[in-house]
Amino acid sequence: MDYTIRSGTATDRGERDTNEDRVLVAERLWAVADGIGGLPGGEVASHLALDSLGAAFDADPTMSGLAEACREANRSVWDRACGSRDAAMGTTLTAVALTADAGPVVAHVGDSRLYRLGPDLELVTADHTVVAEMVRAGRLSEEEAAYHPHRNVLTRAVGVAPEMEAEIFPLACSPGDRLLLCTDGVSGVLGPEALRSALGASADPRRVAAEVVALAVRNGATDNATALVLHLSP
Ligand code: MG
Repeated sequence: MDYTIRSGTATDRGERDTNEDRVLVAERLWAVADGIGGLPGGEVASHLALDSLGAAFDADPTMSGLAEACREANRSVWDRACGSRDAAMGTTLTAVALTADAGPVVAHVGDSRLYRLGPDLELVTADHTVVAEMVRAGRLSEEEAAYHPHRNVLTRAVGVAPEMEAEIFPLACSPGDRLLLCTDGVSGVLGPEALRSALGASADPRRVAAEVVALAVRNGATDNATALVLHLSP
């Protein structure tokens, strides 16, 4: 199945002085990254990760090529961190790629998210956080997790260790679906109902992305808030 994908992006720095979120829109690859670490580390990490992801996926646009592109992104950030005085840097990375061999594939590291709006809204990715893993293990409720002091502690990130494996899996989707890739500045303040109605609000993905971010800001987003919206057509 070949898709035509139309995209729209929006971002707001919230109450932060800088915006360390980053978006990649390429011909067959769409991604968000949320930089972590002290300044300027976070900003450098998210830029570097998506630049190197894009270049590596271009060279091998397959499912295994996507996994290798994530390793390449990790190496780029790790090498930069090792060579700089501001050694603490890393980034989340959530991407959708139209691969040559396996159709749409997800690559995911960290706590940025992919949602799919088909007949229902589905959270496609699982956060790589200590708290989300406790919820999956049945040791913490969703409600407790939402206010847990360690809810932002990542168990997997790009650039914080010499080797890293992204979660890579084929994306089940259909023509007519809408996808949202977003950073935790959006998903931390907007629940499924708000996201569902914002994603259905317009036929123009650019307006949808702007609406999602505006809604996050109105709902008190203090963190950088970024949305990348994809509309799939046959
Ligand atoms: Mg964030």
